[in-house]
Amino acid sequence: MNSSREKLPGNWSSASNNEKGPRFSLFDQEEALLQHADQMVDKLDQVADGVRELANAYRQSYRSQTRLLRMSDRMQLDLQQANQKLEAQAESLRTLNEALEQEVQAREQLADELHRLAMMDDLTGVYSRRQVLEVGERELARRRRQGLTPLTLLMMDLDHFKRINDRFGHAAGDTVLVAFAEVLHRNLRESDAVGRLGGEEFLAVLPEVDLRGGMTLAERIREEVAALRIPWEQQGDGSGSVDLDLTVSIGVAALRSTHESLDTAIMRADDALYQAKLSGRNRVMLAKAEERGNQSDPEV
Ligand code: GH3
Ligand code: MG
Ligand code: MG
Repeated sequence: MNSSREKLPGNWSSASNNEKGPRFSLFDQEEALLQHADQMVDKLDQVADGVRELANAYRQSYRSQTRLLRMSDRMQLDLQQANQKLEAQAESLRTLNEALEQEVQAREQLADELHRLAMMDDLTGVYSRRQVLEVGERELARRRRQGLTPLTLLMMDLDHFKRINDRFGHAAGDTVLVAFAEVLHRNLRESDAVGRLGGEEFLAVLPEVDLRGGMTLAERIREEVAALRIPWEQQGDGSGSVDLDLTVSIGVAALRSTHESLDTAIMRADDALYQAKLSGRNRVMLAKAEERGNQSDPEV
């Protein structure tokens, strides 16, 4: 095929054309070349413009990227600072929380201590007046619910206690009170309750204990107290150590019926105690109504 020769630019022609007559022109050819070159230059310009635009776009994107990077660095720094602040706040919250917990604990201990003080007699460790009366009322209510289970009261008062105070001083009196309470603790059961009504007067509430059991227990307490010898170091005048002794008078009353109130039963026990004092002290006396009650109330 010689088609390439036929497609030559301008007036270049093939040998067969020469046969019809020469139409060759050098200028034609140059013209075409120049045109071609112009076109090429135009295209190159276009390409250069494109490359310039690309470079501009690339520069802009580079600038935004560096701006974004700077922003992100700043944000990271801000975040780091915020984080540090949060950690410091969390730490102070923890400290505050610990302080609060300690405060709550201290208040609970104080509340327990106040409760204990309201419940107990500080000197002797037996119940307070309020607490022993409360236990008495509770036992009375239980007795009413469960039918006539026995409930016995002992009213106890130390004999001539004032003399101990007067002779040996108040501290000696306190020591005697503590020794007496120890005798009570030794002789009472877990289910019994004993409290200090005031001064040297004590009340024991004995659930499930009948009159006979109450009398026996009271007698045992009386004997143990009478046998006590409490060593006491005398202050000041140098008379050395002495053994303090003491006795106790006890009135015993058992609840008569489901209708009898605690107050009435305590009054009967107190009357019996008064009789014990009148009869010479250091003795156990049965409440008068008990003697009558025993006959009319066989269940007691
Ligand atoms: P009685 O045999 O008739 O019961 O005579 P008593 O001396 O035991 O009774 P009195 O009521 O005359 O005196 C009680 C004394 O108890 C008077 C009071 O100063 C004293 N007393 C009260 N409470 C306490 C205390 O907590 N400690 C001491 N040491 N003495 C107390
Ligand atoms: Mg007394
Ligand atoms: Mg008294």
